[in-house]
Amino acid sequence: MTPDERRSALESIAAEVATCRRCPLAEGRTHAVPGEGHPDTEVVFVGEGPGFNEDQQGRPFVGAAGSLLNQLLGAIGWRRSEVFITNVVKCRPPGNRDPEPAEIAACAPYLRRQLEALDPALVVTLGRHSLQTFMPGARIGTAHGTLRPVDPATGAGSALAYAMYHPAAALRQNSLRETMLADMAGVPEALIEARRLRTPEATTGEGEPKERPEPTDQPAAPITAPEPEPALGLF
Ligand code: URA
Ligand code: SF4
Repeated sequence: MTPDERRSALESIAAEVATCRRCPLAEGRTHAVPGEGHPDTEVVFVGEGPGFNEDQQGRPFVGAAGSLLNQLLGAIGWRRSEVFITNVVKCRPPGNRDPEPAEIAACAPYLRRQLEALDPALVVTLGRHSLQTFMPGARIGTAHGTLRPVDPATGAGSALAYAMYHPAAALRQNSLRETMLADMAGVPEALIEARRLRTPEATTGEGEPKERPEPTDQPAAPITAPEPEPALGLF
């Protein structure tokens, strides 16, 4: 896919998502949240589903979990505009309940088409539902901070998946912040590994690596704990 084709594929998916009624989550939503980010990125972050603020604004990770995600990205010198951020389900489950397997299945074609268009080297899973989608059977307690091949059924078959806890979990349990910071610090290395496995010719000097923006342009900033946020609500 050329960059233009990629952009237009992502736009059509977003337009379909905006009016989709394929599952019962359509009933309670204010706005569907297709996802957003750089269409030429090599890295896609996949969360669970929109919360209250995301549903209000139609944008992913804009509430408290989103500001923690922004801080975590900032700690490695990345900005969210350089990556793509989306969710397993595009509409808010009522009361932020877990998405049901049937809802995840109904929404999966959108995620699959996004991943086929983006063709990322690395998928970072945020939380259990995203983990189950990309690494079926893996458990978050042991998988976090590790790289695995992606389940090819997801549409991101040539990517590696890197598992992280969900930022909302770190808002509930403060000790997970350090874990998430340490796991995020491993993301640039995971990207290098994912690139290496995907384009072995790039390391031998044969062939041209893909023309992509360089989220790793800047060296990773020293990892320090983010400023504590006052009284963070969950969503
Ligand atoms: N939690 C998610 O899983 N996704 C969002 O977009 C926001 C909060
Ligand atoms: Fe459609 Fe996905 Fe929203 Fe369900 S969650 S209505 S499948 S966009």
